[in-house]
Amino acid sequence: MTNVYLTTLGCRLNEAEVAAWARDFQAAGHRVVEAPAQADIMLLNTCAVTSEAARKSRQFVNRLHRQNPAARLVISGCYAELEPSSVAVLTGVDLVIGNQEKSRLVERVSAELDLHAMPELAANPDGVHVYPGSRTRAFVKAQDGCRNRCTFCIVTIARGEERSRTSAEIVDEINALHGAGYQEVVLTGVHLGGYGSDLGTDLKELVATILDHTNIPRLRLSSLEPWDIPPDFWELWGNARLMPHLHLPLQSGCDATLQRMARRCDTDTYAELVASARAAIPGLTLTTDLIVGFPGEDEAEWADTRDYVQEIGFGHIHIFTYSARSGTTAARMRGQIPGEVRRARSREMHAIAAEMKRTHLRHFSGDIRPVLWEGRGEPEAGGQARWSGYTDNYLRVEVTVPASLDLENQLTQTLLSHPLGEPPDRLCGVIQ
Ligand code: SF4
Repeated sequence: MTNVYLTTLGCRLNEAEVAAWARDFQAAGHRVVEAPAQADIMLLNTCAVTSEAARKSRQFVNRLHRQNPAARLVISGCYAELEPSSVAVLTGVDLVIGNQEKSRLVERVSAELDLHAMPELAANPDGVHVYPGSRTRAFVKAQDGCRNRCTFCIVTIARGEERSRTSAEIVDEINALHGAGYQEVVLTGVHLGGYGSDLGTDLKELVATILDHTNIPRLRLSSLEPWDIPPDFWELWGNARLMPHLHLPLQSGCDATLQRMARRCDTDTYAELVASARAAIPGLTLTTDLIVGFPGEDEAEWADTRDYVQEIGFGHIHIFTYSARSGTTAARMRGQIPGEVRRARSREMHAIAAEMKRTHLRHFSGDIRPVLWEGRGEPEAGGQARWSGYTDNYLRVEVTVPASLDLENQLTQTLLSHPLGEPPDRLCGVIQ
């Protein structure tokens, strides 16, 4: 039996991959440990979405080696894919596995680092193993890769062509996770909307199959590019187990900027898509990604984006200050915006986004919605404890209850009262 420590940087997809590898190592009779010091093998799933992320990946490799120089070190992920030779020469690295080889990672590690599989020793050979951490929400990989070529994006280069897991594989994984106690799964991928492009099916069929062949109480979709959305897609939300939350990356609210980004959706199409989703999905929370300070974004283009974002209205905006990522087309573009201007636009957009979130939270004050409580209760005075969780439409809620009440992984109907925090980022709740 080998002690394996797994960790990751970056996106939900990286998290889903590490959780799946942990389960596979456990199924092979190895033990997944929670600290580098306990490990015989350490595995890091790296990120390289920005130059800063790549630097952090390098740092993490060095830190892991310092924490346990005796353990063997396996590096995978986008940084390993984009710069394998730079990773291979980092101190302590024993094996580098690129993104194309991720589905065979446990096999390759076992063979090349000479691990002896002992399935008979597996903790519970037929049950799914719970990766240390949340027992509430699990990320499930549906597909990998992307056929698009957004000019700011290195992911499409690092992750390669689209390849989908079969719906049977995904249904089996979700049923096993539900059996292990998970209440919610989040379908994730690089270009989720491209699911099935290589299998002659699509995301709508996958979601319908999951809803028909599992009893998972909550199915959530992670980021979905605002194109490649199958016709009648919103019909699926007739099933209350599909969460009324859509994350549709906009990136810019100006058509000229979107063209330089090579985005396959203009502002009119995006607005129509949002309007049809809002008409079809009651209580929808719409969230998005926005890049501020993209090359060539002059004051007029910035004004367009500012106005458009306020026209659409979002429950939450992930705001990214543009930073040139070497290896992307945008990094070679003329008209790079000075740092101070990019930072000023980010500050301005954060203020706009905060007001929008306040409005969104207020809109749901007074509603009774299902909340899935997660983590541990934080002790409070007077024998109370404070718990946090998310509604079906992805609003964060806090509740204070007697400390004797264990809410972890519980789904409760909850009255949503006033917003909390300044600027508000959650709601106060009262369990019904
Ligand atoms: S669709 Fe997403 S993953 Fe694909 S190139 Fe564009 S930003 Fe990158």
